[in-house]
Amino acid sequence: MDLLGKNTLSVVIPTFNEEGNIALLYSKLMEALAPLELTALELIFVDDGSHDDSLKIIKRLAKNDKQVKYISFSRNFGHQLALKAGLDHAIFHGVVSLDADLQHPVELIPEMVKKWRSGTDVVYSKRIDESLPWFKRTSSKLFYRIVNSLSQIKLEDGVADFRLLDQKVVQALLKHKETNLFIRGIIPSLGFKQEAIEYTPNKRFAGETKYSFSKMLRFALTGITSLSAKPLYFSIYFGVFFAFLAFIYSLYAIYVFTFGNEAVPGWTSIIASILLIGGIQLIMIGIIGIYLGKVFAQSKGRPNYIIADKNTIND
Ligand code: UDP
Ligand code: MG
Repeated sequence: MDLLGKNTLSVVIPTFNEEGNIALLYSKLMEALAPLELTALELIFVDDGSHDDSLKIIKRLAKNDKQVKYISFSRNFGHQLALKAGLDHAIFHGVVSLDADLQHPVELIPEMVKKWRSGTDVVYSKRIDESLPWFKRTSSKLFYRIVNSLSQIKLEDGVADFRLLDQKVVQALLKHKETNLFIRGIIPSLGFKQEAIEYTPNKRFAGETKYSFSKMLRFALTGITSLSAKPLYFSIYFGVFFAFLAFIYSLYAIYVFTFGNEAVPGWTSIIASILLIGGIQLIMIGIIGIYLGKVFAQSKGRPNYIIADKNTIND
């Protein structure tokens, strides 16, 4: 087969407290990649401020194998930024990203590479699994439903950050200079030839999930507010709706004032409407606040992540 020169590969692995997984992942990766006849390979472990022995283990691997690169953050910046840092540093023709916990089956990478070599620029993976914990499954479904209904982009359910990108796609992605880049949402909008492969995730090999409920919620909010300005329009819709209700109610109040003989003025309805409108205003201020926060972060031009130590070449 004509490989179209596609015989160099970078593998990006965001790693946060994964000391129990790294060694096994490394050997499984090397085994899976061996038949691909690559002329150059790099495994970029991005240590996202782990406080266990992850970095030590990665450094030991790097000492024995020059293909192992590491980038170590000064503190925990989150999975998306770890992934971003890996993409920033990946130098080869194809770039695979996967989790460190062995949930993404490495055996699939050769299949991804095959599709890539025959002309697909983005090979992404789609999880088909019903054995996931109920909470995880439902929250992920809900996440996609909300994001899709709020934005123009259609994210697919079960698509995680396990994919192969051609270097030209990585370059296009990295041209998006927004802080807190929502990689998963941007990729479908980039164009190029994209294709999915389905997989059943493995159980996490060692350690616990690093996505707490609050991290997941923040991720969802970042996703929605990165992809769409629609929530900002809510206040207008709410405003029009309640202004209309208020108008009708005022007509009624005037009618009662003029012709009625009510002894006690409607205290309950006043309190109820104040609470309702107050609540909606708070929600809307919150939504505006999220967007404002983004503008603020962007205008400060702060770095996305801070590297404390690394052995990769380019910045
Ligand atoms: N991760 C990270 N920084 C974080 C949280 C997670 O780099 O703050 C890494 C983690 O080590 C793993 C991947 O991101 O390689 C996915 O995390 P996890 O397995 O905890 O998420 P889940 O599979 O439960 O969604
Ligand atoms: Mg996992």
